[in-house]
Amino acid sequence: MVVGVPKEPDPDETRVPLIPETALKLTELGAELVIESGMGQASGHHDEEYAAIGARVAQDRHMILTSAEVVLRLNKPPAGEITSLKNDSVHISYLDPFNDRELVMALAAQGVQAISMEMIPRTTLAQKMDALSSQASLAGYVAVTVAAARLETIFPMMMTPAGTLSPARVFVIGAGVAGLQAIATARRLGARVEAYDTRPAVAEQVQSLGARFVQIDIGDTGETRDGYAKALTEQQLETQRAEMARRCTQADVVITTAQVFGRRAPRIITKEMIEDMRPGSIIVDMAVESGGNVEGSEKGKEVDVHGVRIIGFTNLAGRVPKHASQMYSTNLGNLVEELWDKEEKTLRIDPENEILRGCLITRGGEICNERIKEAYGL
Ligand code: NAD
Repeated sequence: MVVGVPKEPDPDETRVPLIPETALKLTELGAELVIESGMGQASGHHDEEYAAIGARVAQDRHMILTSAEVVLRLNKPPAGEITSLKNDSVHISYLDPFNDRELVMALAAQGVQAISMEMIPRTTLAQKMDALSSQASLAGYVAVTVAAARLETIFPMMMTPAGTLSPARVFVIGAGVAGLQAIATARRLGARVEAYDTRPAVAEQVQSLGARFVQIDIGDTGETRDGYAKALTEQQLETQRAEMARRCTQADVVITTAQVFGRRAPRIITKEMIEDMRPGSIIVDMAVESGGNVEGSEKGKEVDVHGVRIIGFTNLAGRVPKHASQMYSTNLGNLVEELWDKEEKTLRIDPENEILRGCLITRGGEICNERIKEAYGL
């Protein structure tokens, strides 16, 4: 079975989909691996390393796309490349299926069996394939390092003959995968950390990392059966903002990670709240790609609002490309291994498979994923 891995087309993408270690695992399974020349370059892996473990290195991208029975990527495919894909081929990558309906429709029309890495179920069984989690935990770490590098003060308390320096105060909003890693990183650097999440179930995790959990009574919040937060009502968000405002004025660094799966991120920090913050404070809006938690944050940019620096960088995990590639590649390799039929030496797409029920989006010319069909009103 030919497994093709094209190079990521976005020149700003620093991560790569497959590192040599995973490539070796795939060839050992019996895959005929073909990679586009330069595919691993962005994170320091040369063609020769892939050739050494039995992969074919090709210059002709079009040939790879048209001949592969399985295509592995990181980011969603460019629209112009869909018609190159073979009918019935399997395509695994991020797809952004809730927002990119056109792309999903095109994949269905081409007869591609498209798997979305965002839709891997959040279950114990699928944990080793969960790219959202692996990239989010790196992003949480990076958010803190980015803030620390810009803050005019240090994170830890320091008692010196030249006086005592008080520790930085960090406030993390949203204590999911990224938020918990941000809390852990800020704590390791010695900051005083507070955190808030609408899911009360995370209070214990926050406290076990040495941070304070902020309690706000906003009534019933709950979570979905996958462990995701539910959207709040406008009244609940209003109550939340009032308490957040108080915490933000005391904070040196605010990191927002609040997301509601498949929907626009909730707007939590308003312009008025920013005006009340101390000049020199830093906000990192980690939800900027899904609409932003912070009023005035800009995708991919760093802006100054009343002396407060708002960071809206995208692809934070891409700022540690080697580890980000390693983790994504491992997730991808584990998924392929899970679906691999060792006797036939092929990938077996059984729509009844528990993992595929969550992440297989198109098959047989149609959209087959129940959640996506519902989101599209089909
Ligand atoms: P996410 O990125 O969708 O959201 C980040 C956080 O924002 C969540 O903790 C959410 O509760 C919070 N949030 C939403 N609205 C908010 C608001 N208005 N104010 C404050 N916080 C708000 O979530 P995630 O980090 O990808 O995952 C969420 C949870 O899913 C995890 O904490 C975990 O319980 C579960 N999960 C399970 C597995 C597994 O079992 N394999 C893997 C990953 C995640």
